[in-house]
Amino acid sequence: MPLTIAAVAHDEKKQALVEWAERNAARLRPHKLVATATTGGRLKAALGDLDVTTVKSGPLGGDQQIGAMIAEGKIDLLVFFPDPLTPMPHDVDVKALLRLALVYNVPCAFNAATADLMAQAILPA
Ligand code: PGA
Repeated sequence: MPLTIAAVAHDEKKQALVEWAERNAARLRPHKLVATATTGGRLKAALGDLDVTTVKSGPLGGDQQIGAMIAEGKIDLLVFFPDPLTPMPHDVDVKALLRLALVYNVPCAFNAATADLMAQAILPA
């Protein structure tokens, strides 16, 4: 059964997330991705055959939309690459997303190293 994987990356980390998806494309292809708007646009541009649905951009409510999907049990995995070196105007939304992922025990990857492990361990080719 396809999993639903949420994908969010801050601007400085979007390239790393695209490269993660490229490295793991064969494993991701059977599954569904839900991404914030700009992150999802980058994924679609790089990997047109992936099943990517977008929500709003993170600062415009996209993080909260994904948080709501977590609360509704609609997200199986969260791949979230935050930028730890840049202050974010939507920091409260970021924290809320992380909090809900913890509350609902959603497997989370916050960097490429962990996301590679997740792809290899949880999404067998
Ligand atoms: P974006 O949103 O993918 O639309 O840039 C992510 C974020 O900045 O939270």
